[in-house]
Amino acid sequence: MNDLPITLPAFEPGHVWLVGAGPGDPGLISLLAYHALSQADVIVYDALVDDRVLAMARPGAAREFAGKRGGKPSPRQPDISRRLVELARDGKRVLRLKGGDPFVFGRGAEEALTLAEAGIRFRIVPGITSGVGGLAYAAIPATSRDVNSAIAFVTGHDAHGDVPGSIDWDALARAVPVLVFYMALKHLDGIASRLMAAGRSAGEPVAVVSRASTPRQTVLVSTLGEVAAEAVRQGVEPPALVVVGEVVRLRDRLMDFLAQ
Ligand code: SAH
Repeated sequence: MNDLPITLPAFEPGHVWLVGAGPGDPGLISLLAYHALSQADVIVYDALVDDRVLAMARPGAAREFAGKRGGKPSPRQPDISRRLVELARDGKRVLRLKGGDPFVFGRGAEEALTLAEAGIRFRIVPGITSGVGGLAYAAIPATSRDVNSAIAFVTGHDAHGDVPGSIDWDALARAVPVLVFYMALKHLDGIASRLMAAGRSAGEPVAVVSRASTPRQTVLVSTLGEVAAEAVRQGVEPPALVVVGEVVRLRDRLMDFLAQ
């Protein structure tokens, strides 16, 4: 990159960079992500990576899609990890590009472990996770001093696609004032019911932020008791985040001044 008063590390042939592309807005990628896009030989990317980020790639870079497309099942995770190893062994500069942050519900851990086991050198470039950056684009602060001193990031479905059974819902509901659910649209009803059964009030504010930080962003504000039905009624589309907690109310005081 030109005109920067810092030197960014070289992208060595045979190395893999596991890079977070942020929630969507291309302005949210890091300098290291931009640097990687301009140097990569091959980019292996997920469905959540915004087209406008991919458009910043070096024109000669090969692109391999590793997500779900047109209802077809996504490539199996071991196959993706193996492909990264193969490309690296071929001497390519491999950019593994993921939505948000690669280590937050992004299977980055599995891929990094496979690379480590195969003896491949890699770099992790964190991205802005949608559960923080996407909320900000909806004028919802993840924390606010008067509201919450803790926050939890929770997945709305487990490896089998069910509401995660390993979560201690009572403990979560009692201990953490703000809950941010990823991949939760399908099980919104079950999640809201479990939280209410664990003592959270039906009137507690909930926001569903869809396609955050993209031109098609939508924000639905509702309550724990009504959000599941309301999301269906309004046809909210994935990807979406579900934010439960009083921080959602701050949106009312902020949104009118948020520059677009
Ligand atoms: N690694 C990603 C998360 C991948 S899991 C990250 O750090 O953000 C996929 C889930 O992320 C989606 O189901 C959705 O809950 C959330 N997500 C990712 N991008 C999003 C966006 N632009 N708007 C809303 N939700 C998003």
